[in-house]
Amino acid sequence: MLRRVVILLLLLALLVPAGLYQAGVLRLPPRWDPRAPLDIRDTPTLVTHWKLARLEWQPSACLAALEASRLEMPRVPDRASDTGCPIANAVRLEAGEVALSPARPVVTCPLAVAWAMFERHALQPAARAHFGQGVRSARHLGTYNCRNVYHRQGGRRSQHATANAIDIAGFTLADGRGITLLRDWGEEEGAEAAHGTPAAFLRDVRDGACRYFRAVLGPDYNAPHRDHFHLDRGRWSRCS
Ligand SMILES: [Zn+2]
Repeated sequence: MLRRVVILLLLLALLVPAGLYQAGVLRLPPRWDPRAPLDIRDTPTLVTHWKLARLEWQPSACLAALEASRLEMPRVPDRASDTGCPIANAVRLEAGEVALSPARPVVTCPLAVAWAMFERHALQPAARAHFGQGVRSARHLGTYNCRNVYHRQGGRRSQHATANAIDIAGFTLADGRGITLLRDWGEEEGAEAAHGTPAAFLRDVRDGACRYFRAVLGPDYNAPHRDHFHLDRGRWSRCS
């Protein structure tokens, strides 16, 4: 009997707020409200991560997120492809605080939003924590490239084939100091890099990227990634 009452009370405790939310009586702060567009400036919550995932199946939600976040990223026209390399729901990735070099690469809209969140909530905080200054620019090795994974014949298409990935080779801090994956990643996996060193910064950047991208592959993953972070919003999830 007591068990039934407890279950009933628990159900009511869940259903009443849900009903009030549905009816529009109960309002949630936008960053907790699944119906509000994603605003990259809000402190991320669990709902933010769900909203980020939603951008992949709802192109209109992605454009709404760009607008809500005041990110001006020009649309790139959709383009069909006979070779498995279509462009859909893509934009030119405009720089925020961090300039991209080369500038304005073509990326899918969800990747652009993930990048903006990563820059604001992971990259810049990591730079400030380690060096007391922000990142001025990021050097990338490309986004859209109609090819298979590792350029293998007969393999599966890379996320680069649909502009859903970006390869980052290094960063320049506000004071002009350069940091590259190839030179500064340093020790092998498992070794602890000291706080304030480029190696520790790059590990924090990798860990932070894993919160916003689905696959993050760097030097710890394999030799082809010794000189860059591959960041994508594909289906396959991996953080290494
Ligand atoms: Zn890549």
